[in-house]
Amino acid sequence: MGFVIALFCFRFTRWLLIFVICGSALYFPVALISGVISRGILLAVLETDTREAVSFITSLPIESIFYVLAILVSLIFVFCMIAPLFKEVRLKGRIFIFFIPLAISSLVTVYLDKKYGYDPVIVSTAVGIKKLYREYKILDISSLKESSWVIGGKNATEYENYIVIIGESVRADALSLYGSPFKTTPFLDKVPKRYIKNYFSPAVNTSLSVPRILALTDEKGRVIEENNAISLARQAGYKTFWISSQGFTGANNRTAARIAKFSENIYFTKTFESDFALYSEIDKALSATGPKVIFIHMTGSHEDPCERLSDYSGPKHNIPKQKMLSCYLTSVSKMDQFVEQVYKKAETKGEAFSLIYTSDHGLSMKEDLTGSLVIYRDEQFRESYIVPFILISSTDQETKEYNIVRDGWHFIDFFAFWIGVTTNYTIDNYNIFEAESTLDPQVIGYHEKKHSVLEKKIDLDLKEYLLRFQ
Ligand SMILES: [Zn+2]
Repeated sequence: MGFVIALFCFRFTRWLLIFVICGSALYFPVALISGVISRGILLAVLETDTREAVSFITSLPIESIFYVLAILVSLIFVFCMIAPLFKEVRLKGRIFIFFIPLAISSLVTVYLDKKYGYDPVIVSTAVGIKKLYREYKILDISSLKESSWVIGGKNATEYENYIVIIGESVRADALSLYGSPFKTTPFLDKVPKRYIKNYFSPAVNTSLSVPRILALTDEKGRVIEENNAISLARQAGYKTFWISSQGFTGANNRTAARIAKFSENIYFTKTFESDFALYSEIDKALSATGPKVIFIHMTGSHEDPCERLSDYSGPKHNIPKQKMLSCYLTSVSKMDQFVEQVYKKAETKGEAFSLIYTSDHGLSMKEDLTGSLVIYRDEQFRESYIVPFILISSTDQETKEYNIVRDGWHFIDFFAFWIGVTTNYTIDNYNIFEAESTLDPQVIGYHEKKHSVLEKKIDLDLKEYLLRFQ
């Protein structure tokens, strides 16, 4: 209150007060529901996208409109009441009135902050707006160099539709296709496909791995963002779609979101991170005419997989006293169902298609003191990087297992080959199933330095562990 009284003293501080209160009023509903909404306000306010702005406003709780109105009406009322009182006060008096409440308020604020960690509304609003602006700057790719792909040659390809599904935290040995004694992936087990047994993701977490799968990197493993699979596909004449149930903002999502921004069509789920919420967007993408590449970024099986199953009604795995492990295996079955649905959608469309499923990284597992398995992430273990790599297409008639070693750093080389182009940066005709073997796959841990995966420790043998419960 002291701050408010102080700001009434002079004309310019009154304008400042109006600005701050209006800002607070508008920011208030956002502060009530942060997270996904901050993405909405980013797009709506900073990119002035009308459609997004409308969907953002309609996604706010109805009462927030009343909050905003209440704050604005109170502002007008307080202004009309107090402003005339100051007309009579001379300059000396105003300076006095300015400093005394300001000093008292500052002391009270410092005390409350020290004792209770309290932030005045003005400060938290300013911090919130600053955070949003920072997020916007991070997501802004307009300052990046133009992509410098040069397409050398274009081959006729068999397919009209290319689909890349990037899963979340799926370690290969949790799939029955990769040896899990629990039947977690009935669809992937039976559908004709080609799949690689020893496939290493480039990095230990989403934000480090996804851009390194999808974009070129330099010899140190740094991402050359502008030269990515989406910009290449566009240059090669494909329509591009990015459909994601992962968030748009926040430390874990930004790097993938920056790559996503290269796509002509971008969709992120708005409120609930459900993979199944992507189906209608996938239908829309498949209905577009002409050759296209559809990237699907799943939420999948993150640590604490139990949190991500409320939308899933398929078969569940229940191992006594193994809640986390049961949820994890169920989340893998959920992924299997999701891939099956995408496959069926592509099949129903009647156009030739090719679909890749891989995961951004794996996970580590260990037993806690109670004998339950816990799922976590440790860059020291190989299983944090070993993920599935499966290709299913409308022309594959039989299943072929490739017991070979490959890594995600070469995904972009394969991608070029897959969509039928040769380029200035990718290895020509890199057929991932037949290319030269990767002898020493490199991976990146949290410190963003490349290490040989051979230096990593071997994690708990999930297959062995699961056999106990058979
Ligand atoms: Zn991830």
